[in-house]
Amino acid sequence: MLGAHAYPSPRRGLVTVEAVDFFVIGGGSGGVRAARVAATLGARVVVAEDKELGGTCVNVGCIPKKLFVYASHVPHQLELARSFGWDAPEPRLDWPRLRDAKDAEIKRLNGIYARILETAGVTVVRGRARVTSPTTVAVGDRVFEARHILVATGGRPIVRKFPGAEHAMTSDDVFHLPALPRRVFVVGGGYIAAEFACIFHGFGLEATLSYRGPLFLRGFDREAREHVAAEMRRRGIALWFDNQITALRKRGDGALDIETSDGRGVTVDAVLCATGREPNVEGLGLAEVGVELSDGGAVVVDGHYATRVPTIHAVGDVIDRYNLTPVALAQGAYVAKRLFGEGASEVDLALVPTAIFTQPSLATVGLSEEDARAQYADIDVYASTFRPLAHTLGGSDERYMVKLVVDRATDRVLGVHVVGGEAGEIVQTAAVALRAGATKAVFDATIGIHPTFAEELVTLRTPRAR
Ligand code: NDP
Repeated sequence: MLGAHAYPSPRRGLVTVEAVDFFVIGGGSGGVRAARVAATLGARVVVAEDKELGGTCVNVGCIPKKLFVYASHVPHQLELARSFGWDAPEPRLDWPRLRDAKDAEIKRLNGIYARILETAGVTVVRGRARVTSPTTVAVGDRVFEARHILVATGGRPIVRKFPGAEHAMTSDDVFHLPALPRRVFVVGGGYIAAEFACIFHGFGLEATLSYRGPLFLRGFDREAREHVAAEMRRRGIALWFDNQITALRKRGDGALDIETSDGRGVTVDAVLCATGREPNVEGLGLAEVGVELSDGGAVVVDGHYATRVPTIHAVGDVIDRYNLTPVALAQGAYVAKRLFGEGASEVDLALVPTAIFTQPSLATVGLSEEDARAQYADIDVYASTFRPLAHTLGGSDERYMVKLVVDRATDRVLGVHVVGGEAGEIVQTAAVALRAGATKAVFDATIGIHPTFAEELVTLRTPRAR
């Protein structure tokens, strides 16, 4: 039960104020986790959400994207099937069937999120929230007084400005396309651009990716990025690096003519702009109550996720640190435990593993070779590329890659980089070893599972010549 009292407002007459312990703005990964944990600890909690529960991850991010990744693997798997003697048909994607099945699953997950909150005793208020003072939030006609407010509003795609940009779609749109285009041009070189270029290609579309720099996936290990680029090209995806879209013109027949900085042009049916995301802070009233925002609009927080206003905290993509669901979950739980429990250990963001679900996928934990060289006096690099066993009968040239970066002085493994197959599944486990401080000797002493892709990580014996 929420407490309530009323006060007269010159604009709205008698306003009922509902008193709560914790008002969470945003029902995505970070917000829902924080709300549930706080409620379990006995707090009276309200979550405000103006869209579906689950946030970016559930509705227009990780989950539907991964379902599409699985769907896009099928032609490749049928090719493999043929190499193993199966008569596999030529695949043809029924897009509306995939999209609608995905929508049904997302709807189920929305319901699960609602039930999780309901079971925990959290009240969900539908509508857009606005912070009106350090301890009050308005949602439509309702006013809440909260001991603590959590901003967990996530982010949204940025569409860069270029002539014709209004004809481009964002990743939000891709999930609901009425029909699949035949030719797609993807702008950007980050997670979303690389993943969707591969998804589109897997769906049987002609895919071109345009990135402004010399090599996409900036920040990851260079060799791993080069490996992914080579494999994507080998599969038939056009990668245009050092390339910027300069104009987009829509023809009468709906096709889109693209002009780019290096003079290359192409005609496509759809353009996906995946050039980053920005924190969702518009209209929240944060700056007005004294919350500091960065130049990019991110909520500025300290190590405990507190803003400059002590009653207001923020977690997840809206603080623009590691924009990853598991990080938001950890941050949300931390804030709830710290405010309503008996304290909590801080979220340690060293060694956050991550995967890009390209084809082949790239997963990584720890330092890239380049970062390790910059931070350590002497490193050893162990790397290997090889043809996966599953592809030998089909004669495919596809190659996987594993790489370990090791500090020579301590033998500690500083970074693990894997490209291929289920790279994310492998690196998730390697991340446990790195957190435990595993040395290369520990990797060497670990018996492999044969024949697997992952055993390559424990059989790398010779460092690369320096
Ligand atoms: P990213 O930050 O990963 O990539 C943005 C891309 O856009 C970069 O290649 C960047 O280039 C480029 N870019 C930025 N500004 C411009 C510009 N003005 N003109 C041209 N290109 C530009 O963002 P995404 O939108 O791909 O993803 C957002 C975040 O979501 C990711 O950082 C990640 O944290 C998360 N995410 C995670 C996934 C996963 O875990 N698998 C999947 C999808 C998203 P440059 O590198 O040169 O700056």
